[in-house]
Amino acid sequence: MNNSKNIARFLFGKGAFDELGSLVQPRRKTKDDYFVFLLDHFFRDSKMECRLPLEDQDLLLYVSTLDEPTTDAVNTLNRNIIDRKKKLPVSLVGIGGGSTLDTAKAVSNLLTNGGRAEDYQGWDLVRVPGIHKIGVPTLSGTGAESSRTCVMTDPLRNLKLGMNSEHTLFDQLVLDPDLPLTVPRSQYFYTGMDTYLHCIESLQGRCRHGLADAYSREALRLSREVFASEEMQSGANREKLMIASYLGGCAIANSLVGLVHPFSAGLAITLKLHHGIANCIAMDALGEFYPEEVGEFRSICEKQQIDLPRGVTSRFSDNDFERLYASTIIHERPLANALGEDFKSILTPEKVKEIFSRM
Ligand code: NAD
Ligand code: ZN
Repeated sequence: MNNSKNIARFLFGKGAFDELGSLVQPRRKTKDDYFVFLLDHFFRDSKMECRLPLEDQDLLLYVSTLDEPTTDAVNTLNRNIIDRKKKLPVSLVGIGGGSTLDTAKAVSNLLTNGGRAEDYQGWDLVRVPGIHKIGVPTLSGTGAESSRTCVMTDPLRNLKLGMNSEHTLFDQLVLDPDLPLTVPRSQYFYTGMDTYLHCIESLQGRCRHGLADAYSREALRLSREVFASEEMQSGANREKLMIASYLGGCAIANSLVGLVHPFSAGLAITLKLHHGIANCIAMDALGEFYPEEVGEFRSICEKQQIDLPRGVTSRFSDNDFERLYASTIIHERPLANALGEDFKSILTPEKVKEIFSRM
């Protein structure tokens, strides 16, 4: 039985970001105690920087999101902190979307566990708690703020996998629905749909958990309201989606995704497609497994006037399809959750190729 752990503390509500200083200052005990602020590069030279409770000894580092987190990028950031300071930071603050939050979680684990990011990709491999960490999401949907994993791609191993461990959970969250105000419409949709898909996959799975189901049902209800709305990015809807994302992360911490995420991971590895959009492309091709949900998903896309890219694998060679197969089928836990232990007899290389060819 899973002895589950949740986020210990969160500040929630409009204006919560302005309280960040009150969380940071009490942790500074001596004059060389320092914080690391990891900021999504979107906020470079923005007003956000002036709102940070920064002191001279702190490190302010930017996380590029041109590519989603890789093991190399996480190793480089970790090295950068170790090389610049004689001691470990008292806390690390990650501010951004899922990519930045995951990077913060991974770096926090590496700073205390040593080694390289790839050593901890998998389940419960992180040995000791990471550096105290505060998560501040600026984009809602991945649930990275409340989940127990931090996803990274290791291109050398064709692997997209997180450090799935209770040590990966943030110690503190600041949830301010005003922060996603500047998110472009399509990004808001694709990342927001991540919550919807996590919950759909989890509720359709075989490994069910009553509490995770309850989180999923509420997250799904809220995301349906947001995406049925004429103005999905209104203040009220930003707040709903932030709650849905948090609950979706709690759900997924106690359950498993299904088919969409492994297929999406295949697209991420071969085409470097980002998570939200790759999920939506994968979902659209999985109608035979999720008939009602794909129907609903398509009507949501229509309502929000989202045109999914088509033909993304149209130029793929046999080699590319083999790589796609390998990077999808490696996700045994979610695939078994969706189709049973015998999932490889359903998802043969031919079948997987046929599904990807539809995208
Ligand atoms: P992201 O973090 O990659 O950000 C997408 C884009 O939005 C970036 O260009 C970023 O700069 C921009 N952005 C972020 N906040 C903004 C704001 N307030 N205004 C304007 N632009 C803003 O996108 P994401 O979808 O949140 O995260 C995807 C990552 O999360 C993937 O790597 C995925 O694997 C991971 N993920 C993690 C979990 C988990 O449980 N840890 C779950 C699902 C997905
Ligand atoms: Zn996801």
